[in-house]
Amino acid sequence: MSQISSTPPAATVAQSASNPSTFTPQSPFDETGDVILRSSDGVDFRVHQVVMSLASPIFATMFTLPQPEKDPEPINMPESAVVLDQMLRFWYPGTEPLTIESLEELHAVVEILISKYDVQSAVYTAKSHVREYLKTEPVAVYAIACTQGWEDLARTAARESLKHPIRVFDYDAAQSLKHITADAYHRLMQYHYLCGTAAKGVTTSLRWVTAPNNWVWFSCRSCTTSPTGWYLSDGQAYPTRLWFTNFRTSVGEALSRTPGISLLDSNLLPPALKEASKCSVCREQVHEQLFNWVSTALSPKVQELINGVQLKFT
Ligand SMILES: [Zn+2]
Repeated sequence: MSQISSTPPAATVAQSASNPSTFTPQSPFDETGDVILRSSDGVDFRVHQVVMSLASPIFATMFTLPQPEKDPEPINMPESAVVLDQMLRFWYPGTEPLTIESLEELHAVVEILISKYDVQSAVYTAKSHVREYLKTEPVAVYAIACTQGWEDLARTAARESLKHPIRVFDYDAAQSLKHITADAYHRLMQYHYLCGTAAKGVTTSLRWVTAPNNWVWFSCRSCTTSPTGWYLSDGQAYPTRLWFTNFRTSVGEALSRTPGISLLDSNLLPPALKEASKCSVCREQVHEQLFNWVSTALSPKVQELINGVQLKFT
């Protein structure tokens, strides 16, 4: 398996022919093939003209140039041997799977393959590789998807970004952001903001909450009540316990920052449960009821509101 873990980004690996590489091509680029691609650092790769021509209109045009019938001249490539090896192994038939260990490396290969040489047959593989970074680097994946015009992946990445507080700028920008337009980045920020605003709406109005109900934070008459009641689905105002009001506020703030946060897995429930447990009435029911309400009512409502927000993609 090709290991490129120590490979710096493509832009930094280019070497001149006067600085020969010690790179040695491996199978299948070392034996067969009727065309020689010579890297910028002087390494020859043997490839099949028909394979290259079918994969890339750029190569197809390149091969139409007159060539000597015997001992054709090597085609000088602007890429270094390492980069050339990466881009060939990404799609060339009969090669072993390429191991890419960072999204920056992957982006560099994708840029050369698809944007420069128009190897459309590599798109499916490229997208599946990029997709592997969705959970850890959704903004960078969004950036790459926008650069390549992959609308489906851009939408998926934008949705995944909702699980991160990406409007809190305490992180370094992904390298991939250098390649997208300010407009595309603005659309992601706008989508994230609008989802946050929509999600927070579950806490600023409770008219979506079914009433009458038996939730203890409405029915308890033992612990402190908030100054104002809340209108529920039946149009009636219901007093709520103070601990629930505090919980509602903290949930709203969290959803505003991170609209895709998992409310059940967040650190929002323990303080509310602790506070509610100070009341002898709430204590009896709050654990079961609050988990139940969050999972069957609150979280689905948040998802419903987020689903109503559309990412603008042009
Ligand atoms: Zn109570």
